[in-house]
Amino acid sequence: MTSTVSASVAGSWINGAAVTTGGAAHQVINPADGSVVAELKLATPADVDTAVAAARAAQPDWGRAAPVERSTVLAKLAALMNEHADELVAEEVSQTGKPARLAREFDVPGSIDNVDFFAGAARHLEGKATAEYSGDHTSSIRREPVGVVATITPWNYPLQMAVWKVLPALAAGCSVVIKPAELTPLTTLTLARLATEAGLPDGVFNVVTGAGGDVGTALAGHPDVDVVTFTGSTPVGRKVMAAAAAHGHRTQLELGGKAPFVVFDDADLDAAIQGAVAGALINTGQDCTAATRAIVARDLYDDFVSGVAEVMSKVVVGDPDDEDTDLGPLISMAHRAKVSGMVERAPGQGGRIVTGGSAPDRPGSFYLPTVIADVAEDSEVYRDEIFGPVLTVRSFTDDDDALRQANDTAYGLAASAWTRDVYRAQRASREINAGCVWINDHIPIISEMPHGGVGASGFGKDMSDYSFEEYLTIKHVMSDITGVAEKDWHRIIFTKR
Ligand code: NAD
Repeated sequence: MTSTVSASVAGSWINGAAVTTGGAAHQVINPADGSVVAELKLATPADVDTAVAAARAAQPDWGRAAPVERSTVLAKLAALMNEHADELVAEEVSQTGKPARLAREFDVPGSIDNVDFFAGAARHLEGKATAEYSGDHTSSIRREPVGVVATITPWNYPLQMAVWKVLPALAAGCSVVIKPAELTPLTTLTLARLATEAGLPDGVFNVVTGAGGDVGTALAGHPDVDVVTFTGSTPVGRKVMAAAAAHGHRTQLELGGKAPFVVFDDADLDAAIQGAVAGALINTGQDCTAATRAIVARDLYDDFVSGVAEVMSKVVVGDPDDEDTDLGPLISMAHRAKVSGMVERAPGQGGRIVTGGSAPDRPGSFYLPTVIADVAEDSEVYRDEIFGPVLTVRSFTDDDDALRQANDTAYGLAASAWTRDVYRAQRASREINAGCVWINDHIPIISEMPHGGVGASGFGKDMSDYSFEEYLTIKHVMSDITGVAEKDWHRIIFTKR
């Protein structure tokens, strides 16, 4: 299979149809070789208005559709994605440069499973059972769709990030306008097309492709959306929150990460080494939960550092379409310049580059797997998100020190603890501040379980039933059951009629 897609595509999907919007001409580039994958026209803020108006008009009927109707459409979408899996893989590989094996075994099946999950979950949405809390009234809880959802997604897992935002919203009865990252719009556009083919009413799912500064800003700050959900970097997430706050709109933010990977002295060292390399290199390290800060017991430190360096040296960097390739390029030359700049500054801040630390001699925005040992706690590579195939390593003295270092970050998205001691594992899972703590593993996710962070990693959840809370409002309905005009509580307002 080849992932060459080269096409001229409409840049937006509005009201159930492909729309060539009025913004600048734009090329989607394959970062593995710099070739043009697709040409399209970006949207403008005026196109955002059109998409939001379509979503507003379509929402009431979709929101009132019986759960089984919504479920049937979403199940059909999952089936169509299965049928078009090769197309989705090809698009994802060509616009991101990720290895085809990763797209075929993780991005695409993971996305389909998530669609399937929300097709089922759409039928389980319920309020709390009715009861008489005052004696004179029956109270019930209605969980209703919040309305129109604006969502903005990043380039690292374009299809999965779109699915994580759009599917719970659709299942809850909301309509959506999504802006994918302009570097990687293709699979989001295909998702919208397949949703329409699956029977989703026109206007319920709209896509506008554009840059963050104009289209993103216009969408995040749109007066006629009800909630703004975002996945991306922490600084941009805060701008999105501020734009939404101008209208008092709800937000949900999935932001950056700097995951600690804590290896206690009783850990299975081989498992920790394998896990650290897999956790650091997945998606060329462009993963918000990637293992980036290995914090290792002093007794294991030297063996851990040499072990990860050895496994990393065997990783195959190459053509994403090649089945043997483990590591593809970074998303762009500009991003590679950012990653290499951070790595090059590390030795000046006390770090020791053990392996990697440079770009291989080939076209495309590739960067070699890199281990930086002995990093200082205040160094840039230890503090800031690198978002590349780079693992930093530090040692710790005792359990208190390990957990202190794990929490010594503004971020709080994910973490892992490696130990065979059940008490240590329990303590680490309780004390590490993160939305997810893995024990003796790092990276796996599953549709039934929530994903989302704390602190600078944002708030709110993607995936699982918990994500519905972002897309629903809770309404209390209180019904008099006495039937009398002169109600008992009226005594406190007036005594005589
Ligand atoms: P980014 O913040 O630069 O961009 C994300 C999206 O925001 C893009 O669509 C972009 O066009 C848009 N945008 C940019 N400026 C905007 C503005 N002023 N107003 C509105 N929208 C704007 O992030 P990125 O570089 O695309 O992705 C990498 C980042 O995403 C990393 O920080 C990574 O940790 C994070 N991420 C987090 C999660 C998570 O679940 N927490 C998942 C994936 C990626």
